[in-house]
Amino acid sequence: MRRLIVTLDGPAGSGKSTIARDLAARLGLEFLDTGAMYRGLTARCLDRGVDPVEEPFYVVELARNQLPAFDFAEDPPRLSVGDTDVTDRLRDADVNHAVSDVAAISAVRSVMVAAQQQIGRDHPRLVTEGRDQGSVVFPDADVKFFLEASVAVRAERRHRQLTEAGRTISLAEVRHNIVERDEKDSQRTDGPLTCPPDAETIDTSDRTIPEVLDLLERRVREAAPDAVAATA
Ligand code: C5P
Repeated sequence: MRRLIVTLDGPAGSGKSTIARDLAARLGLEFLDTGAMYRGLTARCLDRGVDPVEEPFYVVELARNQLPAFDFAEDPPRLSVGDTDVTDRLRDADVNHAVSDVAAISAVRSVMVAAQQQIGRDHPRLVTEGRDQGSVVFPDADVKFFLEASVAVRAERRHRQLTEAGRTISLAEVRHNIVERDEKDSQRTDGPLTCPPDAETIDTSDRTIPEVLDLLERRVREAAPDAVAATA
């Protein structure tokens, strides 16, 4: 079947990861979590004692020499940086705090954008999620969505996710991290968080995940009926 690239951009906690993964499964597509690539690189920097704000050159060097790489044979895919599997580090608090500083380094973004475009060529039937997927990485994507939700709802969702994963963290701290990341992600010069003009904006605040999924699945099937199986 033909190429089909679906992009999902939006702020932290808008439900992108869960929705992108499930949408990909419903449509028989692969799934790319680009935030994990920035998180994996951040984890490696921190584990090597590199401060991304003070030493951006080391971060760029690491990105160029040890590009974060997914093992798509695993479900969900595992992520390595060089020889190190960083999958279990991605949601740690220190990574959460530093990732937007890493993602603001323009030379890091160039490396990541090129890597993601290569993944798009190798895996041309893809649901990809992040901040710049519809705007910078895949401007010619077949279908583009921008997911939004209020800060309160996003903080609650992320807090529930982390608590269920066994992390001890207050709702106030989660909210603070989300607001801080939104600010940094929206204000950077390269690839800022933005809604592409040709994307459909979906507010997920008052919708359940299955409701959002039904809507997105319907939209993709309408937009590209020749590129998806008749039934998922
Ligand atoms: O989506 P997630 O919350 O895992 O993303 C973590 C961070 O990675 C974001 O806050 C942002 O700084 C960065 N990111 C980015 N561009 C992307 C995906 C993520 O800058 N395409």
